[in-house]
Amino acid sequence: MKMNIQAPLHIRKLTPYVPGKPVQEVERELGLANTVKMASNENPFGPSPKALEAARGFLDNVHIYPEGSGFYLCQALSRHYKVEQDRVILGNGSVELIEIAAKALLVPGANVVMSEGSFTMYRIATLAMNAEAREIPMAKRTHDLKAMARAVDANTKMVLVANPNNPTGTYNSMGEVERLLQEVPDDVLVIIDEAYKEFVKEPDYGSANALLEAHPNLLVLGTFAKAYGLAGLRVGYGFGHPELLAILHKARSPFNTSSIAQVAAIAALEDGEFVRKVVDFNAKEMKRVCAELKKMGFSYTPSVTNFLLVDVPMASSDCYRKLLMEGVIIRPMEGWGFPNSIRVTLYTREGNDRFLAALSKVAAR
Ligand SMILES: *Cc1c(COP(=O)(O)O)cnc(C)c1O
Repeated sequence: MKMNIQAPLHIRKLTPYVPGKPVQEVERELGLANTVKMASNENPFGPSPKALEAARGFLDNVHIYPEGSGFYLCQALSRHYKVEQDRVILGNGSVELIEIAAKALLVPGANVVMSEGSFTMYRIATLAMNAEAREIPMAKRTHDLKAMARAVDANTKMVLVANPNNPTGTYNSMGEVERLLQEVPDDVLVIIDEAYKEFVKEPDYGSANALLEAHPNLLVLGTFAKAYGLAGLRVGYGFGHPELLAILHKARSPFNTSSIAQVAAIAALEDGEFVRKVVDFNAKEMKRVCAELKKMGFSYTPSVTNFLLVDVPMASSDCYRKLLMEGVIIRPMEGWGFPNSIRVTLYTREGNDRFLAALSKVAAR
């Protein structure tokens, strides 16, 4: 039968988000075994063991709907980050909070200011609401916050900043973020997406949480997907003014985080030891992998996160396909504005060695 439903033009024009290829899919399609996935900034240590135990212990209760607002996880986040509990909102991953904000605030004719070379979900969430994605060129592969502030006009409803940024791994200092908030009118929502904040050790970096009191138009996002290793459970959070959150709650579906995700996240927050182990290992491997890349003659963007943007002497998608044949899954970056760069997630020591060996084989220079 012919399917006759027509989507409106702005939806027809939309290119869906392309996620990293799962290991099983690659192995099935290419007949490979032993592939490593270094494509989605996932945690090489797996989930926090405490989170896993809490999730297992809660399985008997999955016939009950979760608490709608996630009271206990909000309480745990409030205590952990020293933010009042009425300033906490949960998302099915922090990405959902971006979509909720877009749904709540955007109308056709509105625009959202974001950076070129940033997380592609920002553009998708904006275009899905038939609004304009205003992408501002970067300065040295870092968000140009001054230019972004200048790009705000009467139709701007949101400014989206990934700090640190994905896929470049660069960051903006606390001072720069504070200036952005001073320059953007207070009726424009500023979202600072801090998905990788746990990995950053630079002294001039800081969470924008510290600016919440002074800026009621600020929403700060965090996630359990990266340093805490709970990507598959889909749980993230936002901090903002209670009246801002009241607007977002109107566009949120009632049970947007699952009960299992909530209990696992509470336990993960208490597992500081796990996060420290993850972050310290990542820092050591980052140093080692960068030194190796340098020796091999590759240039890359210095990163404060758990991934690296590496420049390759060929089209990004060619490099991706060649590495795939070596059993190493990375992310090609042309769709993100980097036609000759790949993004690789630091993984286990063995995984990182596999990547380095495969890269030197397919892209020797
Ligand atoms: C991974 C990532 C997130 C987190 O997404 P979840 O929906 O929480 O899994 C958010 N923002 C950026 C920039 C990311 O890279």
